[in-house]
Amino acid sequence: MSGGQLGKMLTQVASVFDIQVSIMDKSPQAPAAQICHQFFKGDQTKYEDVYEFGKKVDLLTFEIEHINIEALRKLKAEGVTVYPDPETLNTIKDKGLQKLFYEKHNIPTSPFKLYENKAAVLAALDKNEISYPFVQKSRTDGYDGKGVAVITTSHKINRLMDGPCVIEEAVDIAKELSVIVAKNPSGAVECFPLVEMEFNAEANLVEQLICPANVSNTVEEESIAIAKEVAKSFDLVGLLAVELFLDKKGNILVNESAPRTHNSGHHTIEANITSQYEQQLRAIFDWPLGDTSILSPSVMLNVLGEPEYTGDVKYEGLEEVLKIPGVKPHIYGKRITKPFRKMGHVTILGTTIEEAKQKAEIVKNTLKVIAYEPTEN
Ligand code: ADP
Repeated sequence: MSGGQLGKMLTQVASVFDIQVSIMDKSPQAPAAQICHQFFKGDQTKYEDVYEFGKKVDLLTFEIEHINIEALRKLKAEGVTVYPDPETLNTIKDKGLQKLFYEKHNIPTSPFKLYENKAAVLAALDKNEISYPFVQKSRTDGYDGKGVAVITTSHKINRLMDGPCVIEEAVDIAKELSVIVAKNPSGAVECFPLVEMEFNAEANLVEQLICPANVSNTVEEESIAIAKEVAKSFDLVGLLAVELFLDKKGNILVNESAPRTHNSGHHTIEANITSQYEQQLRAIFDWPLGDTSILSPSVMLNVLGEPEYTGDVKYEGLEEVLKIPGVKPHIYGKRITKPFRKMGHVTILGTTIEEAKQKAEIVKNTLKVIAYEPTEN
């Protein structure tokens, strides 16, 4: 496992079951590195580092897509248990292969085409093969909204990126939704209830997540059925976060999936009987999957670095928000803040979603991540 916040939260739950966790990360100061049993310094994109690390563990899992797949394949071939499977990661890591996979398995997704570079996209526009508005996605270099360009008119064409990409029809989005599904090697499948994601337009990052989602039972049931279908098509072991668009006509389309614990499942630590982290462990160890029922309506806020600060991190307003009942902050322990860097999250519980949303507004305006010194520009 690697050392970010997802690794840290998984390690915390692993200790409940007395599982010994080894972490590999470039930085010994990474969030999970500080609480694991064994830390190895290494780069997860390098073959040698992943291979050497994998030889030392009984079961290898990961919570980041940018991992050296050749090393995972070799470890699997040599008998190390690797969950999720390297081939699932290989498909998902490349947004082009991921779209082709959905197409092949009849999973609803927005229509798309693949192009080698910017020149090929411009040529296709000239031939009217692509029409506005459309979305360009870098096949392999994107994360957290980076590597995605929404191009509404020809005036925005300067936003086009170079390199291999997916061009997909822009969806007329009513809501962005997420379902986290778990599957164990014995074939048991469980979904977490549907969540609704609200985005920060400037950072193109999820800003607030609401559970339960404000949608009809039909949308909830259909979304869960689609997520289960995606997990089965991948023959997944572990967790899969399936991000969905509900369009304005009521269609549900798969945007993308991630084979790991996910930002859209943080609230499950306090708001559900089983957290996504516990479910990941249950899935990969082939234990019975846990009950995912909701204990309380919740809102989850990402705590992002303020745009104008880079440097040694300082939190403002933490004590203020701790006074509010049902407000549960998680500070990941990253030493340096940067504009929009994910530094933590807060889960806000309420007797109703409206109450949780009101408290979330206060948290948003009170809790700030800054640096000791403002950045010189
Ligand atoms: P990332 O992997 O970086 O999170 P996404 O594929 O989730 O990238 O895209 C980021 C955001 O861009 C989405 O949450 C959505 O708001 C917008 N987006 C992506 N694809 C489309 C699309 N086909 N139509 C409209 N908006 C889209």
